[in-house]
Amino acid sequence: MLRVGAHVSVAGGVHNAVENEVAVGGNCGQIFTHSPQVWQDPNIDDEEAAEFREGTAAHLDGPWVIHSSYLVNLCTPKDDLRAKSIASMQREVDAAAKLDIPYVNVHLGAHTGAGVEAGLANAASALSELDIPHDVTVLVESDAGSGTKLGGEFEHLATVLDDCDRDLDVCLDTAHAFAAGYDLSTAKGAKDTITEFDDVVGLEHLMCIHLNDSKHACGTHKDEHAHVGEGEIGVEGMTTLINDPRIEDVPLVLETPTEDGRGFEWNIERVRELRED
Ligand SMILES: [Zn+2]
Ligand SMILES: [Zn+2]
Repeated sequence: MLRVGAHVSVAGGVHNAVENEVAVGGNCGQIFTHSPQVWQDPNIDDEEAAEFREGTAAHLDGPWVIHSSYLVNLCTPKDDLRAKSIASMQREVDAAAKLDIPYVNVHLGAHTGAGVEAGLANAASALSELDIPHDVTVLVESDAGSGTKLGGEFEHLATVLDDCDRDLDVCLDTAHAFAAGYDLSTAKGAKDTITEFDDVVGLEHLMCIHLNDSKHACGTHKDEHAHVGEGEIGVEGMTTLINDPRIEDVPLVLETPTEDGRGFEWNIERVRELRED
């Protein structure tokens, strides 16, 4: 079954995410539990959580993913930022358990001069400090790899998975991987990238794909999302990814823009059109 949805708003309460997802035609999706630009407690009350869980069971196939705060930096060498990042992640995994959400997604962050090896070690040890509830898994998201941000290379993801004491999995963002240098714009490039991911990380760890097209060329490390098939990855690459039998059951979550009169509804419909079964 094709599982495809979008990152939707929780404005007015997390339970509203369900109808927002249904409204754009999604059957799975992603949320922030609070504004991702500030340190904040998700603060979800019991009634709201129950309404979210019941709405999800009634109207969606799932899964949901919680995307953690953009302020989180697991690679940081700074003690205060590390402590805040771990505390924030702990609140997210606890919120996920309360909402019956299986995944919390996080970017590794930037090593800011500490070096790649030290940054990856910081990320693995920070995630090892989490008390992750049963039935919740942290997904490390592939990054565009600008500046000193880690997670652009599949090897970075594999290192953190190997070195962390917790069982982690991965979310692959196609716009980020493309910006990081994996050429997804041709059928061969897309297939080879999935093969490389399997070789380096293992497809058994791929639990979510952020299916975004890219406004910038391959290898530019610039992270700006485009409508599915309308960016530099384009229709050939997207069609190949959407139909590759090795990843056909992985949930697709869109973080495409709302512009040119097109939003999530258009993009989800596009994915369904490009799917060949
Ligand atoms: Zn992300
Ligand atoms: Zn992005």
